[in-house]
Amino acid sequence: MATAVRDVSIFGEAIAYFNEAADLLELDSGMRRILTHPTRQIIFSIPFQRDSGEFEVFTGYRVQYSFARGPGKGGIRFHPGVTLDEVTALAFWMTWKCAVVDLPFGGAKGGVTCDPATLSSSELERITRRYAAELVEVVGPDKDVPAPDVNTTPQVMAWFMDTYSMHVRQHQPGVVTGKPLEIGGSRGRVEATGRGLTICALDQMEQMALDPAKARIAIQGFGNVGMYAAKLFAERGCRVVGISDVTGAYYNEKGVNIDDASAHAFKHRSLEGFTGGERIGNAELLTSECDVLVPAALENVFNAENAAKIKAKLIVEGANGPTTPEAAGIFKERGIVVIPDIMGNAGGVTVSYFEWVQDRMGYFWKEAEVNERLEDILLTNLREIRAIASKRGATLRTAAYTLAIDRVVKALKLRGIYA
Ligand code: NAD
Repeated sequence: MATAVRDVSIFGEAIAYFNEAADLLELDSGMRRILTHPTRQIIFSIPFQRDSGEFEVFTGYRVQYSFARGPGKGGIRFHPGVTLDEVTALAFWMTWKCAVVDLPFGGAKGGVTCDPATLSSSELERITRRYAAELVEVVGPDKDVPAPDVNTTPQVMAWFMDTYSMHVRQHQPGVVTGKPLEIGGSRGRVEATGRGLTICALDQMEQMALDPAKARIAIQGFGNVGMYAAKLFAERGCRVVGISDVTGAYYNEKGVNIDDASAHAFKHRSLEGFTGGERIGNAELLTSECDVLVPAALENVFNAENAAKIKAKLIVEGANGPTTPEAAGIFKERGIVVIPDIMGNAGGVTVSYFEWVQDRMGYFWKEAEVNERLEDILLTNLREIRAIASKRGATLRTAAYTLAIDRVVKALKLRGIYA
């Protein structure tokens, strides 16, 4: 087990948000100490064989941040930038995300430092199976339940579930969520994060008198979250004027045709070569003319340099940690409303929770039922956050953390600290 990396770190920055809410809650120093330490950090080597026969070793991580409210819950990220610090921050955010939507889960996250773009499907399968095998003792439906994150797909979840089930000699679909429908996935899970984001965005737009038929939306990232959010915004009659992925950004004042963009992205595995909008720089997309801006790629997108140039009135965070604390301060000063990541992208984990429930019952719901329950959970908690924000004069982010921390603290106090 390793200790947390705390200097100049994503986790360090994440704690800044925690502290603001902890101050509002007048949390004592002991409780702060407990809540700013991960329960368990696991680092391991993943030796695997390339298709060429050569052996390589990647590093795998699983951070189980909190079990106070239930089993760990959080995705697995395959990306060259994965570090212990990043995974710890993501597990920390999962703790508050699960609590803010009142799910009976703690928080966890995992990752492998690798570049899936350079891996064949069989190489990816071998890495996934070895990753799962290393975690057999510490994951499980009542221990810790992984899910997809950046570059991990329902297929990756299927390999994970199969490997775990082989090791425990039992069919255990509830060990991961985000699985294909055929093996215990939930209807509506693939779109859930994007759907949840649009539910929150449209509710907030109503509060801000932003007419969906007139509002211009820009979305950074065109993967699971960004693409489905774009589709659902378009379905609700909104104009998505800007989209981007790692290969470039596209702007179209009249509205990008999202079906064309999705078809292009599916066919070419990226937006490269898309002709449905003017090609602009990735950074330019963030400061383009729009009313609602959705970061749905990676963390630290808004910083002290670009925060003053953002033109949107509302930011809905699809990605985890896209706003640095400096940028958050600038947005607050400028009156830009931000639905924070732990609320804005909680639709994914909420339907993951539904998947876990369905797997345990062995009984599966219709998609309409999934979507209805999702909307109910998200709007109930978003409204609670808004009430806290207006009562305490806080941002929606601080209010969301306040609600989440309060719930975790209550659970911890009831259980008692086994010291
Ligand atoms: P994904 O891999 O499906 O998509 C990521 C997208 O971001 C891709 O289109 C990629 O090209 C793009 N991207 C990467 N770097 C970029 C850059 N510099 N500029 C513009 N685009 C860039 O991943 P995802 O599952 O959509 O996750 C995106 C974010 O949402 C992550 O922060 C993730 O943690 C968060 N999230 C995902 C889920 C989920 O259910 N998938 C749930 C909650 C939060």
